Amino acid sequence: MENYDLHNHSTCSDGLLSPTQLIELAARTGTDAIALTDHDTTDGLEEAESAARKAGIAFVPGVEISVSWGGTTLHVVGLRVDPAAAPLAAGLRAVRDGRFGRARKIAAELERLGFPGALEGALELAGNEARLSRSHFARHLVRSGRVRDVQAAFDKYLGRGKPAYVAHRWASLENAVSWIRGAGGIAVLAHPGRYDLKPTMRDEMLHGFRAAGGEAIEVVTGSHRPEEYAAWRRVALEHGFLASRGADYHGPGESACEPGRLAPLHASLTPVWTRWAH
Ligand code: AMP
Ligand code: MN
Ligand code: MN
Ligand code: MN
Repeated sequence: MENYDLHNHSTCSDGLLSPTQLIELAARTGTDAIALTDHDTTDGLEEAESAARKAGIAFVPGVEISVSWGGTTLHVVGLRVDPAAAPLAAGLRAVRDGRFGRARKIAAELERLGFPGALEGALELAGNEARLSRSHFARHLVRSGRVRDVQAAFDKYLGRGKPAYVAHRWASLENAVSWIRGAGGIAVLAHPGRYDLKPTMRDEMLHGFRAAGGEAIEVVTGSHRPEEYAAWRRVALEHGFLASRGADYHGPGESACEPGRLAPLHASLTPVWTRWAH
């Protein structure tokens, strides 16, 4: 089976490698086809595509859209999207425009907790206001010696329910999926094991995703523990979803799983790439 990796980040969102560096790494690990799926932006796709052409690997243009479903934040990956499609571009711009206001609120909470200057620090790491994510705040706290590592920053301060967590309204599930489909893409529910939902809510979410036009879920991802793969494989089969595979790589030292270095999808699953690979 070909080595597809359909979920990865670059410095255009909260990754640590440039699109070119990411593609070059993927080529070294033996990835045959890689997607760049930055949070709420398609800015890196052109550079990544040209790097992939040079490296001789296939490129899949993607995006990972932040979604609010009730009080839960979901991530929906769009694969094979056309970044020039107007509704997608406008939708992503609106989502990005919300990031700076939220970042100011996060910084205010951190200030209250005794961490002044977090907005400036995170902004310096992010490069621009529209990219600001909790990952940049976490790295700022690490860099200033206030926490041991990024994981600790989330566990203590930035994770849901922690003191510097700020609730935020992202895109609706319906809009996110429709922007992806309107751009010719396939909508994939990212790392379903990461959402803290009880079984009935989980099923309601999966049905909502399907009703909105979602077609696939990630089964093998760097954001699932390998012990979780079988459970999500069963969910994909029961609900009739195509299955996706992706490292959700953010960078050296932060992501245990490098691009292309994941278990294969179980043979019972229909990979999402069967939709376009002939
Ligand atoms: P944001 O979109 O600003 O809320 O940031 C979300 C990003 O933070 C995710 O895409 C992950 O890269 C990172 N993240 C979220 N939760 C954790 C966690 N518990 N540990 C490490 N990174 C996390
Ligand atoms: Mn991220
Ligand atoms: Mn995600
Ligand atoms: Mn991701």
